[in-house]
Amino acid sequence: KLDSYQKVIQNKAFHFEDIGGQETAKQELKEALEFLIKADKVNRMGIRPLKGILLTGPPGTGKTLLARAAAGYSDAVFLATSGSEFIEMYAGVGAQRVRGLFQSAREMAKKQKKNRAIIFIDEIDVLGGKRGSHSSHLEYDQTLNQLLVEMDGLGYDQEVQILLIAATNRPDLLDPALLRPGRFDRQVKVDLPDKEGRLAILKLHCRNKPLADDVCIEEIANGTFGFSGAHLENVTNEAAILALRDKSPFIKQTHLREAVDKVILGEKLGNRASS
Ligand code: ATP
Repeated sequence: KLDSYQKVIQNKAFHFEDIGGQETAKQELKEALEFLIKADKVNRMGIRPLKGILLTGPPGTGKTLLARAAAGYSDAVFLATSGSEFIEMYAGVGAQRVRGLFQSAREMAKKQKKNRAIIFIDEIDVLGGKRGSHSSHLEYDQTLNQLLVEMDGLGYDQEVQILLIAATNRPDLLDPALLRPGRFDRQVKVDLPDKEGRLAILKLHCRNKPLADDVCIEEIANGTFGFSGAHLENVTNEAAILALRDKSPFIKQTHLREAVDKVILGEKLGNRASS
């Protein structure tokens, strides 16, 4: 039985090719996934099983997408949740949820007749912050301890191999116990995209949109330094809305330029509101 707190993304095939840029991160992830895919060989060599990969980088850069693609690549069931889902006032609830998450992964894999599962925890810093640093620290500590217990137990279940992928923007906040060998011993950086990355992301998100002949995506990629993948997706979406408003059957370059300004403005206003 899956509890409501676990947002399960069904394995609608999602591939690394559906992610723009992030070539280094993709390569590093694929290499790490070989340990999961070739678990038998790895075991035979007496190599410690890979249990956790930590994706670090700013919001909206594709960390969730990378975890989904990792599941697709290794033919694993995929469960996604967020660190904040484990935080409850009541003692023991967070720890129980952590146990439930791993149990659900095993059950789901067996049900789908797969022998691998990838669990993705976004914002791991919320649940994996340094112990003793929270005001209601006992409850946080119990939850984190349970996560460590579950991770230590991984690799011994012959039936289902579980890999934990977690994401954070603040790896410095994590309890050092999480980063010890045998836990999250691989870190993959997922940075803001460079010009080529932005171009690839824009192209991906324009794939199913009607573009006018005057559109030059390169110009938009050049002019969007500092944008994340999520911002760029937003640009293409806004441009389509502007075209619709203009009663234009195609998205023109002016729509894309205006959309860039809109996203910049929205970001500035958003920052002001939150500061
Ligand atoms: P957060 O830390 O805020 O959860 P994240 O790094 O997990 O962010 P995602 O949820 O993977 O980011 O990305 C958000 C959305 O941004 C995606 O659904 C996608 O539309 C777009 N996006 C981000 N990065 C890319 C990318 N590299 N290629 C294509 N689309 C991207």
